[in-house]
Amino acid sequence: MRILVVEDDSLLAQGLTRVLARAGHAVDRAETGVQADRALRAASYDLVVLDIGLPDIDGFEVLRRLRLRHASANVLVLTARDAIEDRVHGLDLGSDDYLTKPFSVTEFEARVRALLRRVSLPASAVSLGRLTVDVEAKRIGINGTLIELTVREWALLELFMARPGRVLSKEQIAQQLADCDSQLTTNAVEVYVSRLRAKIEAAGVRIRTVRGFGYLWETTDA
Ligand code: CA
Repeated sequence: MRILVVEDDSLLAQGLTRVLARAGHAVDRAETGVQADRALRAASYDLVVLDIGLPDIDGFEVLRRLRLRHASANVLVLTARDAIEDRVHGLDLGSDDYLTKPFSVTEFEARVRALLRRVSLPASAVSLGRLTVDVEAKRIGINGTLIELTVREWALLELFMARPGRVLSKEQIAQQLADCDSQLTTNAVEVYVSRLRAKIEAAGVRIRTVRGFGYLWETTDA
């Protein structure tokens, strides 16, 4: 994988570079925000390790510009400040994870591994809030992380997607999900709905229970 380390503390940058190179990655380094911005315009990276406190433009600005260009690189923000606002600001701007300094090498390696495991879904996929649905491959992703669905969960998802803004009754769902030779009880429907609900709620997509009627699919943010 190709990784850009953006860090003005040269000792730390050297250390991180060594760790990443040892894991078999191709690593480039930038010591200022302007250098980082230039590197990110010139090449595409799988991961950017991004320090926030930089001598010229800060890491937040580098991140903001990167996301404005719709670059898909995963971003691991390094912050010396333990302020929650900083982390939230970073996540708002599109960082994928953060580490507060000082951190251990083991922790750093674990975060990098987790971020690189994320697989990007194809651009042909449908987006619903932060949920990306790859209709061809029958799989979904939330912020680039793949989520496995069972056959029935997928069928349920398709059913909701085909009827946006409409309440589906448990009986309707049971009918649609039933195999040719078996009937599905409304209790089973409740189980499938709650499993799917748990998998997609992190994407801001909600399956609301409409008492006495059934379920309504809602996207709580765009
Ligand atoms: Ca710094």
